[in-house]
Amino acid sequence: MSCGICDSLLLPNAVTSDTSLPHERWHDLYLEEILDARAKWPLINLIEVALRNRMSQQLENRFGGDFFLREPRQLMSAEISRLRDAQKNSSLRTKYEVIRKLPMGFWLQLLSKKYESILWAPALWRSFPTWDGKNRKSVHEEVTAVWKLRNQIAHHESTRHNISLPSALELQQLLLGLEPDFESMIDSLHPVESLHEQ
Ligand SMILES: [Zn+2]
Repeated sequence: MSCGICDSLLLPNAVTSDTSLPHERWHDLYLEEILDARAKWPLINLIEVALRNRMSQQLENRFGGDFFLREPRQLMSAEISRLRDAQKNSSLRTKYEVIRKLPMGFWLQLLSKKYESILWAPALWRSFPTWDGKNRKSVHEEVTAVWKLRNQIAHHESTRHNISLPSALELQQLLLGLEPDFESMIDSLHPVESLHEQ
């Protein structure tokens, strides 16, 4: 017994591996997944954009305002390739357009170990002004978890019961770590407590 919604959207075991549950139950679980994703998505977007803008600013401050318009010697081949793609896809070829075309995976890579001495130490740590005492590794881990969550939700995968993925509260904390002024904006988006803290 199923319904048109579950038939068209759900693959077997998508929300629960317990196949003995009646359809009504996993239908409800599925709706809870959608509500949960809906609460987290704006926070993920804000984190992604704030992260990108802060990191790009620090790279330009340190390595030159044309950092994203050339092929900086600080970047390794995989990131150069992504940067080239972004430049190619930018019709106006302004640095802002190039920065906007770079995917979250690009920024995440810049926080990885291979860039510790090249980008993190001379520039990128400054992107996280209120993350006192956090080192590159922990920043990279936190952003990686956000990136995974983002992709899971984008691919309509279950996320609620995966404890390695950030909760809405953790997303809020991460965003406030990037920029405390987001507090009022988070308040206006609100709504996480009704879904999670029950
Ligand atoms: Zn259903």
